[in-house]
Amino acid sequence: MKKKLIAGNWKMNGDLAANDALVRAVIAGMKDAACTVAVCVPAPYLAQVQMLRTGSALEVGAQDVSQHERGAYTGEVSAAMLKEFGVRYAIVGHSERRQYHGETDALVAEKARVALAAGVTPIVCVGETLAEREGGKTEEVVKRQMAAVIHTNGHCISEIVVAYEPVWAIGTGRTATPEQAQQVHALLRAQLKAATEHSGRIHLLYGGSMNAANAAALLAQPDIDGGLVGGASLKAADFLQIVGAAR
Ligand code: PEP
Repeated sequence: MKKKLIAGNWKMNGDLAANDALVRAVIAGMKDAACTVAVCVPAPYLAQVQMLRTGSALEVGAQDVSQHERGAYTGEVSAAMLKEFGVRYAIVGHSERRQYHGETDALVAEKARVALAAGVTPIVCVGETLAEREGGKTEEVVKRQMAAVIHTNGHCISEIVVAYEPVWAIGTGRTATPEQAQQVHALLRAQLKAATEHSGRIHLLYGGSMNAANAAALLAQPDIDGGLVGGASLKAADFLQIVGAAR
């Protein structure tokens, strides 16, 4: 059985002093972790966290990556730059980027492709809005988002990580029930299985108000291989309880 993966998404939070304390506490508390642990941090802090993690098992991730390899793209950060800083993961297609930056399914798929080509594992986020869920469109939406990534990435799809993040559960305190999450994970698993014989390798994470109280029940579901954790990743004690629940 593959190890679970718990990845924190700090979003646009942190400062040098707070990061230092948080990362040291996470490293100290994750010594016996049965899962892989990562923190996806704002780009300016990648070097700081990379230095802090030296000698530990903590992995570092970015929260986005450019779809371009290099050139006149002011403000963008390339996958090769991330790789140079020892970054293992890059979140792509987070709903906040889809919503506030107009990222399309095709763009997200291209970002995943560029990350993989540079040796950075994309954590591809998919998920439906509340209106889409209430309109009975959950399956259609997540399958469409996933299909774009499969189409662009071909056989490399087995190297990605997928995070199912229902938009209505992100930062709202309203978590999907373990059954709701498992239902979507199962259909994503089936879609990936039809795309690659190596689908068993792919981690399917759940994200959306995962916390110390609900993590164990979510992580006990057969197709949930870990979590992408926003708010609760900013407090070492909460994050470490989720890490401890991932066995
Ligand atoms: C996220 O931003 O990826 C996320 C899951 O946030 P939260 O855990 O705060 O809902």
